[in-house]
Amino acid sequence: MKTDNTLQNVLDFSLDIFFPNRCPCCGDFIAWNVSICDKCKDKLSEYRCNLNNDIKAAYYYDGIVVDGIYALKFAGSKNFAKHCVSVLSDSLDEDFDIIVPVPIGKKRLRKRGYNQAEVIAKYFSDLKNIPVEKNALIRVLETVQHKLTQKERIKNAEDSYQIGKTQVSGKRILLVDDVYTTGATSLVCKNMLLSAGASHVTIAVCAKTYEINN
Ligand SMILES: [Zn+2]
Repeated sequence: MKTDNTLQNVLDFSLDIFFPNRCPCCGDFIAWNVSICDKCKDKLSEYRCNLNNDIKAAYYYDGIVVDGIYALKFAGSKNFAKHCVSVLSDSLDEDFDIIVPVPIGKKRLRKRGYNQAEVIAKYFSDLKNIPVEKNALIRVLETVQHKLTQKERIKNAEDSYQIGKTQVSGKRILLVDDVYTTGATSLVCKNMLLSAGASHVTIAVCAKTYEINN
């Protein structure tokens, strides 16, 4: 047993040296097999979002949650997505047939190299053993949402997304995205899936802004 532990310690040490891992919220070095440091994990409990409806959010978009989302979207760090999925999975006790990530535009995908919603979807998939259907929704128009009014956002979202080739009829769907702000994107996507015959759609996000009352 002692030999096994020694071997494991050497392996862990090597992974930490060759694949240095950082906390997505504070940037401190963390062990290769964890997704967040203990200090930030404690701090995050202040922002926990416990909405009990069809929108499940791990946290409110505030404080170090903003840093975690930033790391996920702009710094190539997937740790925050992994952490949020482990937090959310406790409150997701329904059964789902497929997981659908909200798609991003081709231009942004080229620049970022990945769709953060797909990263979240993949972690859910690994944890719950449910397939990801990334072509259930497609992005057909790429415009910036944050400068628009709520009415314009909804119209813009309706013009930006379409149902893809994946068969969604009768499916129970977990629709995932990184942040829920006004809800224009998520709700439009949800309604599109329902119109295409999905039997139920639950939205899951890492973070949600305070302003919206749901
Ligand atoms: Zn930290």
